Amino acid sequence: MKIALIAHDKKKDAMINLAIKYQDTLAQHELYATGTTGTLVMGETGLKIKRMKSGPLGGDQQIGSMVAEGKLDLIVFLRDPLTSQPHEPDVTALLRLCDVQSIPLATNIKSAEIMLEAVQNGKKL
Ligand code: PGA
Repeated sequence: MKIALIAHDKKKDAMINLAIKYQDTLAQHELYATGTTGTLVMGETGLKIKRMKSGPLGGDQQIGSMVAEGKLDLIVFLRDPLTSQPHEPDVTALLRLCDVQSIPLATNIKSAEIMLEAVQNGKKL
C-alpha cells in the first residue's frame, strides 16, 4: 500500500509515537509524508519515506495530487483543530479530495490506530 503521513506541528510528537508503535507494519509499505513530518519520523524510526514539500509550502497539495491520481491508499493526517493554519485552504482541499476518491483518511490518533491495526492485520482498505 501507499501510505501518506502528515502532522500539524502540535501533533508531530503523536505522529512520531504512532510511527514507532506501527513501525514494523509501516516498513512493509511505501511511505510518503509532508516535509517536516517525514524528516522527523525518519529520524526517529529509520523508516524510508518519500518527502514532499513542507505542508505550508505546498506539501499538502502534492499529497492531494497523488490522491486525485489514485496513487495513495491511506492517509494519516493528524490535524491540530485548535490552531489556525496559514495553509487551511490546502488542508481543506486535501480532505475534500480524499472524500471525492473515497481514500481512507484518519485525522486523529484513535482513527489512525484503527486503520493501522487493519493494515497490520492484512485487511484491504
Ligand atoms: P509539515 O507539514 O510536515 O511540513 O510540517 C504538515 C502540514 O502542516 O500540513
